[in-house]
This record gives sequence, structure tokens and C-alpha cells, in this order.
Amino acid sequence: LNQTNWTEATQAVEAAQSIIIVTHVSPDGDAIGSALGLYNMLRQQDKQVTVAVDEGLPDFLAFLPNATDIQPSLTSGTWDLMISTDSSDEPRTGKCGAYARAHSATIINLDHHATNTGFGDIYLVNPEAVSAAEVVFDWWGEAGYALTREVAMPLLTGLVTDTLGFRTSNVKPRTLEIAHDLMALGASLTEVTARALESRPYQVVTVWKQSLPSVMLVNGVISANITIADQVGVEDPDRMEYGLVGWLREVNEAMIAVVFTEEKPDEIKLSLRSKRGYDVSQVALALGGGGHKQASGATVKGTLQEVRERVLPLLYEAVKQGELEIV
Ligand code: 5GP
Ligand code: MN
Ligand code: MN
Repeated sequence: LNQTNWTEATQAVEAAQSIIIVTHVSPDGDAIGSALGLYNMLRQQDKQVTVAVDEGLPDFLAFLPNATDIQPSLTSGTWDLMISTDSSDEPRTGKCGAYARAHSATIINLDHHATNTGFGDIYLVNPEAVSAAEVVFDWWGEAGYALTREVAMPLLTGLVTDTLGFRTSNVKPRTLEIAHDLMALGASLTEVTARALESRPYQVVTVWKQSLPSVMLVNGVISANITIADQVGVEDPDRMEYGLVGWLREVNEAMIAVVFTEEKPDEIKLSLRSKRGYDVSQVALALGGGGHKQASGATVKGTLQEVRERVLPLLYEAVKQGELEIV
């Protein structure tokens, strides 16, 4: 999906008194950044605004202004308008999203995933945008709303995290112009980078130690497993982001990297990354997930062994496909 109805979206905001903002489960820097950027802007306009995501705010993003206002669940309320950010499909918005959908008159779908399924009433979906935060920035520009530092900080966080510090292949001169504008408003690039990108608890390293012996490189696909046993001692494994796949993607001989994380004995979370020219989003989509060409994910039923046997051949095929397109 690629459609941005700026005017309709602005009219919906202006007509609304009460607004609920939701984002995707296991929220990353862009999910929280885009949601808080919206929240801080709409609050300044004296709207009655709520922001919620299942399980609430990850600790590493607690430095963002008003981050503690993010609710971990929704049990009451009705709203004139719901805004969903950074979520390519409805299940991705979790229980909070389901509750908000059932209790909101109008839904804005704000996103930057090419795999967006087109749910909701008004679309602000731009797959050219490097982050949902960029879509928020563009929207407020179109609407003529003045940004403050409180809005700029979370938006810069979304931009920095989804581009891995302005290093992904979709970064354009315009991306840096937006970053420039956000910094000029007082958002600190070094603080955002240190807190949102270059930060991990030691527990993560202990899990890497357990997981690394499982690493394999076959047909241009580098893979690793994170089993339940590997995560013993981790306080809250459901919320932990291990970041191993990004590091595996940097291996020269690998075109695609995949980490299989055992969430339950019969449920495996896949984290997929690829080099430029190789597309993992179609594999993720075929498995019921989604994402971007270079970074995608899905959760698949089956044991670790079953899921590996099902998924790895698809990834070998994606490597071949990429090779064909490069020639
Ligand atoms: P990660 O590996 O960091 O969990 O996910 C990478 C990207 O893949 C996310 O930013 C998101 O775009 C996408 N993604 C991950 N898991 C899912 C999923 O279960 N469903 C969908 N639709 N997208 C996912
Ligand atoms: Mn995200
Ligand atoms: Mn995003």
C-alpha cells in the first residue's frame, strides 16, 4: 500500500476531541517514537489523548518526554479517532489495538511498511519513508503545525533506530534534512543514539554466549537459534530484544541472516535481515509476518527443528532470487 491522505487525516484530527494512539507489540524505537511524537503534538493542541501498547514502554526508551504516559493495556474508554502507527496489519497492534478499534469512530493507519494490508479508514502509508516517525514529521509539515523539542526527540528516535543510525540503504539526503530540522528543535542525536541504539543489558551478552555455538552459514544464509534454555536467567524474555540478527547480517559471506527464537516449545519468532538486493519481506509475508525488504519478521507455529526445516529453504531461494536480479 502506498497512499497518503494528509488533508483527510488533518480534518479527522481537527474534528476529534478524544484520540487513542496505538502502535505495534514488542515496540521498537520507531513504534514508540512515532506514537509519542503524535501524542506530544496532539496534547499540545488540547486534545484528550491516550497512548497504549501491550506490555507498555521498553526501559531503554524511558528517556523520551512523556514516555511514562504510555499505557500497557486498555480496559475502558471510547474515542472519536484512533491512530495506528508503524503497524502493517491489525494483529500487530495487539490487544490494545483490538480494543481501540472496537471503541473508535474513525481509524487512521499511519505506517511505512510496503506490506501494509490497508486496514482502517484513512491512510498515511508511505513505503518510501524510512520510519513511521518520518511520516509523522511529513504530516505535521503538511498540516502546518509547529514542532517542539518534545515532539522532535521521539521522532528523531524513530528515524535513528529504523535506519540503524542513518546506515540503511533507504537513507536519502531528505532523511538527513529531517534529522537536521529535528536537531535544530533541540533533539540530541548523540543522546538518542547512545540510549536507543548503543545500549544493551549484560544479560543479552550472556544469551549470545549460549546461542553462538548454533551459528551456521549455508548457501549464503547465516542462522542462529535462541532456545528457551539459552534464555534461562533472563527476567522478561518476551520483552527482551537480543539484537543478534543485526550483527550476523554484517558477516561478509552472508546475504541473509535469520535468528530463530523459541518463544514457546511450539512457537518460534523469526528475525530476518538481508543485504541490499536481497528481499526477506516476501518470505516473512508468506509466513504470516511482514516488514521491509532488509528487515522483516514473523512468528511461526512448530518446533525449532520444524520451523528451521520449513523456513531455511525459502531463504536459500531468496538468496538465489537476489543473485538473479543482481546479474
Ligand atoms: P525484528 O526482527 O526487529 O523483530 O523485526 C524486524 C521488522 O520486521 C520489524 O520492524 C517489523 O517491520 C517486521 N516484523 C517483525 N515481526 C513481525 C510480525 O510478526 N508481523 C509483521 N507484520 N511484521 C513483523
Ligand atoms: Mn517498528
Ligand atoms: Mn518502523
